[in-house]
Amino acid sequence: MTVPGRRTVHAVRVLLRRTPLLLVTLALACVLSVLVAPAQAAAPAPAKKRGCKGQVALTFDDGPVRGTTHRLVRLLRSKHVPATFFVVGQRVEALPGAVREIERSGFLVGNHTWAHQDMRTLSYDQALRTLRTTHRALLRAGAHPTRLMRPPYGATNPTIRRAIRDAGFVPVLWTTDSLDWKSGTSEQIAARILGSLRPGANIVLQHDGVNRSPISVGAVAQVVQGARRRGYCFTALDEKGRPGFPTPTATLVTRDGVEGGSAVVRVRLDRLAGRDTAVVVETHSGTATVGSDLPRLSTRVVVPAGRRSAKLRIPLTSDGVLEPAETFTVRLRSPEGLRLDDVRSAAVTITDAAAAGRVVLPGPPILLKRGGVL
Ligand SMILES: [Zn+2]
Repeated sequence: MTVPGRRTVHAVRVLLRRTPLLLVTLALACVLSVLVAPAQAAAPAPAKKRGCKGQVALTFDDGPVRGTTHRLVRLLRSKHVPATFFVVGQRVEALPGAVREIERSGFLVGNHTWAHQDMRTLSYDQALRTLRTTHRALLRAGAHPTRLMRPPYGATNPTIRRAIRDAGFVPVLWTTDSLDWKSGTSEQIAARILGSLRPGANIVLQHDGVNRSPISVGAVAQVVQGARRRGYCFTALDEKGRPGFPTPTATLVTRDGVEGGSAVVRVRLDRLAGRDTAVVVETHSGTATVGSDLPRLSTRVVVPAGRRSAKLRIPLTSDGVLEPAETFTVRLRSPEGLRLDDVRSAAVTITDAAAAGRVVLPGPPILLKRGGVL
């Protein structure tokens, strides 16, 4: 780097005096490049979404804590903004209900170690342990944690990175540090976040579990409004820790039905999606005929964000004729936000009401009466 001569400096000063806007722009560019710089190494590949200038994944660390986490969850839910919570194991153990609330509100949960240790102070085995005990605490709390983790302070070394990988976790850093733990009013924190957003992929770091978190949570509404106005879209984090959504695999689970009753079809996801997903369930004739024994269905079944399954009840017509069991097929098609299992169809058996009564139930007269047979 060369030291500019006096003449050059003067020329720049003149230029700046003449064009104050340029000064502001230059200064802003410097500040922003500093803000974004630590993230460059961690910055995920830009994940573009049609119609969005860029994607913003909000992340909240160090919770759950009583009060603040709940307020944040309600706020995000009311604004339909996805988010990921990197939680501390011992806080999960203390407040299991708060984690369930996070998840059932449609948000994803990641691992932020058991006691918020700087992982560089841990051995390989201790690093494995802090991640695994936190994961187990989440399962005990009734959550379905992702395999995403965030090292406290973003601090790792080669041994720790190996331990994270060997434990089956994906480390997630950030592109925007809100510095909410350090300083600023809600307005200033929001301005910092909005000022650092860039076209492409953005991961914002905030905290719901530090002393200043109520102030930080107070910035969220402005961040959401400001980012949307600037053309950004909000996402969760995908399996690789990039802004986006996980793509769960859907499995079809069926339960046989009795004539005059119903058969139940359940669409089950292998992981949470962080948003609503859907698939179309169709009925096809087998020995049972679609249109007479059961309805012709082509129904879009939605698995709401925060849930791992959804069910569809198929009414079965009773024809009053004693006959052997019949079957029909249900098939999945047109997945939205999910992937279909290799097995996309399943046979469902319809047992004759009268036959079912004779074989299965101890009190056939009751069933016979209900089924209207004989
Ligand atoms: Zn933290």
